[in-house]
Amino acid sequence: MTLQVLPQSRSMGSPNRGRLAQGREFPKEGPGWFRFSPNAWGTDETVTLLQWALEEWHRTFPDAPPVAVGALSREGGGRLRPHKSHQSGRDVDMGLVPADGQARKGFVPLPKSGLDFRKTVHLMALLVSTGRVQAIFIHRSLIPGLRQAAEEEGFSPDLMARLFGGAGRPGVVTAWKGHRAHYHVRFTCPAGDPSCHEEAVRLAPKVRATAQKKASPAKGTISKKSQKASGPSRKVLTNAPSRGKAGPARSPDSRSREGRRRY
Ligand SMILES: [Zn+2]
Repeated sequence: MTLQVLPQSRSMGSPNRGRLAQGREFPKEGPGWFRFSPNAWGTDETVTLLQWALEEWHRTFPDAPPVAVGALSREGGGRLRPHKSHQSGRDVDMGLVPADGQARKGFVPLPKSGLDFRKTVHLMALLVSTGRVQAIFIHRSLIPGLRQAAEEEGFSPDLMARLFGGAGRPGVVTAWKGHRAHYHVRFTCPAGDPSCHEEAVRLAPKVRATAQKKASPAKGTISKKSQKASGPSRKVLTNAPSRGKAGPARSPDSRSREGRRRY
């Protein structure tokens, strides 16, 4: 799915070093969501497809509490503290669906038993079905619950592979530090937007583990040309230049810092 109308917005540069021209504001509330961040600007595709997915999700689960939507980008994009990415209108933070059916005001950490994996993974499936989602970053401890829920829901093998990987290709769901109380969706570059710079953001877990072990991150390991060979592995990132990196960006391991240093 892609927008066939001529989009007016332009996603310039990359999520970690970019801007947004002629962005579109994501509505404050709608069927299936409420937004609590004032930084709600995205590309035409990001905003339109996100809205579509949430509305579809709401049609499926009309009684579910609205999903908390956090930051997209600033109007005009650029650095949005405390995030490293969220600069070019292609990133959005989303809340997990609480199991008790009660809406939360923002991103509230809940134990796994307090999460509705089924409803959460359905929304992820809708997002992925647009064909325009590059990655969904979430803490690795939550991925098995999502996968199990997807299996129980009878998602097709193709959808399972698109979400979680399979047949030699990685899925969009990507383990990342932090992201216990929310997940981060990154859309691909809008179709036909030459100013947008696509970066590889992940490796399959086995490859990443190997890369981490081996990484003797010589200069240029993560140069723009070679990003396919590098993932968001910590070692590589630590030794990489601080700008233009792939992925939501480096962060301290500390769980307590998630609050102030979000992606
Ligand atoms: Zn984020």
